[in-house]
Amino acid sequence: EKFKDGLSKTRNSFSDRVNELVSRYRKVDEDFFEELEEILIQADVGFDTVMTLIEELKREVQRKNIQDPTEVQSVISEKLVAIYDRGDNTSSSLNIQESGLTVILFVGVNGVGKTTTIGKLGHQFKSEGKKVLMAAGDTFRAGAIEQLEVWGERVGVEVIKQAAGSDPAAVMYDAIQAAKSRNADILLCDTAGRLQNKVNLMKELEKVKRVIEREIPGAPHEVLLVLDATTGQNAMIQAKTFKDATDVTGIVLTKLDGTAKGGIVLAIRNELDIPVKFVGLGEKMDDLQTFNAEQYVYGLFA
Ligand code: GDP
Repeated sequence: EKFKDGLSKTRNSFSDRVNELVSRYRKVDEDFFEELEEILIQADVGFDTVMTLIEELKREVQRKNIQDPTEVQSVISEKLVAIYDRGDNTSSSLNIQESGLTVILFVGVNGVGKTTTIGKLGHQFKSEGKKVLMAAGDTFRAGAIEQLEVWGERVGVEVIKQAAGSDPAAVMYDAIQAAKSRNADILLCDTAGRLQNKVNLMKELEKVKRVIEREIPGAPHEVLLVLDATTGQNAMIQAKTFKDATDVTGIVLTKLDGTAKGGIVLAIRNELDIPVKFVGLGEKMDDLQTFNAEQYVYGLFA
């Protein structure tokens, strides 16, 4: 239900348009595919991904000898799921350690929803009975530490912090010691997201990662890149920058509730080969969903 509500904007513009197209045409012809192509592009599915999709659709329509546009509908859904699920890097499950501490690092530029996502995920882990800690690693942005503390209080998770402006690597060190001494299961680490100074930002990230790696072999177990779905192609550019700079293991795509361009999920997966692990569908603590391509696509057309 929540999934359906959260995707209502994409559904209204994308799915409703596909439905309208399907009902308007008498037979599946070249014009039909051209209009479909346009709808997909406008949903931010991404040019390359759209081309692949249309090719495959045409082939399938020919193979099954489909004439009636209403029959194309289910093939579209199938192909959208298949585009996402191709390859083996599609699992949305997290690399959680069976025993000992799991460290999850969150990266991404300011304003994308990093802090909010950490809060939501902290809440999820807590309700699974796990002991969670948060590290206030964004010591740069004014108010970032306080904002994480607000989330910590809201979901009942302790936040490890230092004064604003201090060394984020030192915060991580502290947080790891605290997590060890409290026998925590999960440590969620915030990081700074200023992109004005890309080189410094990436250096800082590297340093933070090194401290984590040194203190806990095999950590960080996940590096989740948070992207704002409403920023479209900008999100793609950010993803490429971060992918080049660090080993991103998954994407959290936030604010899908605020965009009609939900096709960006497919573009990210297809063009970057990084799995989308979570989607944000609102500002409240329950508004984070594990991503599943089938559920997503069929949710759009439900
Ligand atoms: P940060 O700078 O990356 O830590 O971003 P914040 O966590 O502070 O989020 C920026 C704004 O986006 C806040 O107003 C959040 O409430 C909002 N936000 C975050 N995730 C979502 C989401 O999934 N949906 C919506 N509608 N808003 C979100």
